[in-house]
Amino acid sequence: MAYDIIVIGTGPGGYVCAVKAAQLGLKVAVVEKRTTYGGTCLNVGCIPSKALLHASEMYHAAHHLDGLGIEIGEARLNLDKMMAHKDATVKSNVDGVAYLFKKNKIDAFQGTGRVVSAGKVSVTADDGATQELEAKAIVIATGSDVAGIPGVAVEIDEEVIVSSTGGIALKQVPGHMVVVGGGVIGLELGSVWARLGAQVTVVEYLDSILGGMDGEVSKQFQRLLAKQGLTFNLGAKVTGVARSETGANVTFEPVKGGEAQTIAADVVLVATGRKPYTAGLGLEEAGVALDNRGRIEIDKHFQTNVPGIFAIGDVVKGPMLAHKAEDEGVALAEILSGQHGHVNYDVIPGVVYTQPEVASVGKTEEELKAQGIAYKAGKFPFSANGRARAMLATDGFVKILADAETDRILGGHIIGFGAGEMIHEIATVMEFGGSSEDLGRTCHAHPTMSEAVKEAALATFFKPIHM
Ligand code: FAD
Repeated sequence: MAYDIIVIGTGPGGYVCAVKAAQLGLKVAVVEKRTTYGGTCLNVGCIPSKALLHASEMYHAAHHLDGLGIEIGEARLNLDKMMAHKDATVKSNVDGVAYLFKKNKIDAFQGTGRVVSAGKVSVTADDGATQELEAKAIVIATGSDVAGIPGVAVEIDEEVIVSSTGGIALKQVPGHMVVVGGGVIGLELGSVWARLGAQVTVVEYLDSILGGMDGEVSKQFQRLLAKQGLTFNLGAKVTGVARSETGANVTFEPVKGGEAQTIAADVVLVATGRKPYTAGLGLEEAGVALDNRGRIEIDKHFQTNVPGIFAIGDVVKGPMLAHKAEDEGVALAEILSGQHGHVNYDVIPGVVYTQPEVASVGKTEEELKAQGIAYKAGKFPFSANGRARAMLATDGFVKILADAETDRILGGHIIGFGAGEMIHEIATVMEFGGSSEDLGRTCHAHPTMSEAVKEAALATFFKPIHM
């Protein structure tokens, strides 16, 4: 059977591309080497981590309801049950993808896909049986894998020295967890285990956490996490992670030079980033070019240097985010069915799902300064927002950055309860090329946290009312 499209990998990039292409009338097959669909995101990434973040936040909240006049005594942790909730959440999501494939008449092949040449994919099942499929277009959506610590040989056993995959499946709360890497994944999982009772130490190479995030937001975020009990060693280069009798030892030294120190951990979470996953795809033989960071090179229509072979998601350049992969999947499906799909890379929100959440879209102040773009900044703290006070959620602020001349919104940054939902209001205005005055003059329901977004917009061109 010849297909219009064969998609290799069923993460958010691959499965969304397949569904959209089928909805547009194309004959589609997918190849997945896991036994379940949904890729990193649904199986071991976004979804299970958010199940644990939410559950651990509820556990923490249960201990802190006094301020609202609720006394419930001691809340107890049942980690097995919490993990069962996480597993059930994953199952319902991956089953949902299987349902979508069936509904859209997409043929799914279980096994490892390899590009034989343009138009041909071989699929090798776990028992070694191989079959060859043909298609007009091949879409590579094989995602990413754990990157490890640059220059350090670390053996990840997923029990004591864990990647995020082991970090969402620990059998008990560690006494002391050392997180190598102060990025999104390290801080999300670090905060889960801190809330469940672990002492958490973060070791980060850069001088700030969440490298690339707006500097003011990053500083405030670090202060709030420190208040929650996380300890930070910034500007610290990890030079060794080794198993010990009781756990593992992590050795690090100041990046600027100085004495090394070693700390003992029960569990070490290696969260130093992810790298594109292209192993076993046969790309070299097929002549598909990679860039110097191992990502598949594509043009603006997601096509590689080999006509008929396309790539999307974590395996190509851009932020390694599920919604970026999804939007690329949709755009490519549209292009392959003769439409004009595209992705606006200037308006891709990023969210850190800690408590409080951190969310951002567009440019940071640091980027605007570096690019010499004149801008106005408007800021509004949640401590001056009525709803935030009522919910005891006054930590954080909203910051809006607008072009000094045109008032067009160039960036939005929020730290606070529900930031990951509120950011979309700013993203939508940006997508329409709107100004901060457009946002500041839009009537917002009272009392809502979103009123802080409106007030921050007002602050860019005049004054907020409540400050
Ligand atoms: P993937 O989801 O990695 O899927 C690729 C699929 O391809 C996999 O199923 C793999 O088995 C399959 N595959 C690989 N090679 C082959 C082959 N040769 N043959 C057949 N199949 C193959 N992003 C967010 O936006 N929000 C979040 O909250 C978030 N949280 C995260 C938390 C964690 C702990 C991690 C690890 C990641 C998180 N991410 C998050 C990132 C997100 O998971 C990725 O950006 C996203 O999954 C990328 O989608 P993808 O389709 O490119 O690849």
